Amino acid sequence: MALLKNLIPYHSPLSLIDTTTSLRQALQIHAHLLTSGAFTHDPSIFNSFLSSLALSSSPPLLSYSHSLLFTSPPHPPSLYTVNSLIRAHSTGPSPHLCFSLYHHLLSLSLSPDNFTFTFVLRSAAACGGLLALAIHGAVTRHGFGLDHHVQSSLIHMYSSLGLVSHAHLIFREIINPDLVTVTSMLAALAESGEVDSAREMFDRMPERDTVSWNAMIAGYVRVGRYKDGLDLFGEMLKQGTKVNESTMVPVLAACAHLGVMDQGKWVHAFIQRNRLRLNVTLGTSLVDMYSKCGSVERAMEVFWSMEERNVFTWNSAISGLAMNGAAEESLRLFELMESQRVTPNGVTFVGLLRGCCVAGLVQEGREIFSLMSDRYKIEPWHEHYGCMIDLLGRAGMLDEAVLFIRNMPIEPHVSAWRALLNSCKMYNNVELGEYAVDKITNVDANNDGAHVLLSNIYADNRNWKGVSSVRERMKEKGVRKEPGCSVIEVHGEVHQFFVRDKLHPRYEEIKSMLGEVNRRLRLAGYQANTKEVLFDIEEEEKEDAISWHSEKLAIALGLIVLEEGVELRIVKNLRVCRDCHDWTKFVSKVFDRKIVVRDRNRFHHFKDGLCSCKDYW
Ligand code: ZN
Ligand code: ZN
Repeated sequence: MALLKNLIPYHSPLSLIDTTTSLRQALQIHAHLLTSGAFTHDPSIFNSFLSSLALSSSPPLLSYSHSLLFTSPPHPPSLYTVNSLIRAHSTGPSPHLCFSLYHHLLSLSLSPDNFTFTFVLRSAAACGGLLALAIHGAVTRHGFGLDHHVQSSLIHMYSSLGLVSHAHLIFREIINPDLVTVTSMLAALAESGEVDSAREMFDRMPERDTVSWNAMIAGYVRVGRYKDGLDLFGEMLKQGTKVNESTMVPVLAACAHLGVMDQGKWVHAFIQRNRLRLNVTLGTSLVDMYSKCGSVERAMEVFWSMEERNVFTWNSAISGLAMNGAAEESLRLFELMESQRVTPNGVTFVGLLRGCCVAGLVQEGREIFSLMSDRYKIEPWHEHYGCMIDLLGRAGMLDEAVLFIRNMPIEPHVSAWRALLNSCKMYNNVELGEYAVDKITNVDANNDGAHVLLSNIYADNRNWKGVSSVRERMKEKGVRKEPGCSVIEVHGEVHQFFVRDKLHPRYEEIKSMLGEVNRRLRLAGYQANTKEVLFDIEEEEKEDAISWHSEKLAIALGLIVLEEGVELRIVKNLRVCRDCHDWTKFVSKVFDRKIVVRDRNRFHHFKDGLCSCKDYW
């Protein structure tokens, strides 16, 4: 109270509410307003007090305001006050409370306005279900069906509930939709994955603002059209549209997925130059981008520079370290996370377990797995089980891996058998491999990876009959191998290669470079390893076939175009094959280049003829 008395001459008690988030202070102000008689005399003071509490963005103050409204208020609340509460709840942790407020408003004989509906619709989007239809009915009954703000909230609500066709129906009824409404529809289409329709609408828009550009970019990134997302971002900059933090999050995600660090670095510099606020989401996106581009140093630099970190930030850093082979550091970071009382989630443990797998830390992996359920009460997911089987299998403990699968409390997923199959390939165990493939094909008859692995196991054992029987089975069932694809970034541009790709404009140069590389590599002692080739190719073509694997094409282009000393960074959609791995090690030595390859599972940092994975992947 002393604080209040000192301040009252300069501030009215109500304005104090705007600067406090403490319930204790709010109670003091409330007491003061009661004893001074301000509440009894002036309904507007009571109303302002309630709405200020509601809009304070502090959950305890919002609850307090809510309870005051329902417990014998000295005056009936105004529409503005109830709207303020509805608005605050619509983005808060309990959006369903908006509906009781809405009914309370009607019981007080107040008439809802367009603000009421805008926020109630937002809550319906968060709560889902039949409420949405009921509220839509109320909108029409109260005559707000043609209000632009209400219409765009309706569009947003239906699209959040996955009912894009409903959203479209409303949109089509609007005669002259304004920017807000068109943007809502655009976002609805983009969020539901209908990016081409969204793009059509985007291109037709007479004017666009930051929100519309952001929605379109995020839409592309969400469906995995990363390059389109980045291209559109380039266009946005060219047009001089103002960007904000929400623009950069999907842009960084696109860079991360494509593994294009030069562009990622440029975006980072852009953020700094434009003084965009490095909030926790944006900072986490940066950590994630650098991790997925294979630069843990930069990822950790950003990580340590952040003022606020949440569980996602920790997860990005932990997985980043783990995938880049620094499993021990990821475990240490996890200890720090625990000591700072950040509660890990399932994703944290996937990262940690993958790290243990990649580094072959069996004991540590086991401990982490028990810690997850014992201390944090997290039920393991399929990914966690998969990691454990992978961990045991890679360490050659195949019997234990099988036992682990048998003891699983849930039905093993394809990924569990797949992990076992991988280990069978590593340790040449034909019998167990066949068993695992049986299990996989029972669930997913067209699993191309399982077929390819089994045929590779047969090939390792020179069992050509086995190889051709798998080939027959695949033909019969129409199983097709996912084509390998590698991407390299050159001077900010992304080049994509498929196996035997002849489409690149510099194909001739690449071809002769590959010839030159292979000649020099053979002199240095490299021998092609033809065991793991696509088996639908005739024997004599095998050596030729592996020299056309997509990462070799990408590396050849990198050697042609990138200056000496610049490291080559490749992203591949599949696991790197044994031969390409050997070949890349040789290239790193003979051509004195650092090469970073991100494959489906992990990073390989090649230098001086060695790989960071120590040939264990
Ligand atoms: Zn290969
Ligand atoms: Zn490697």
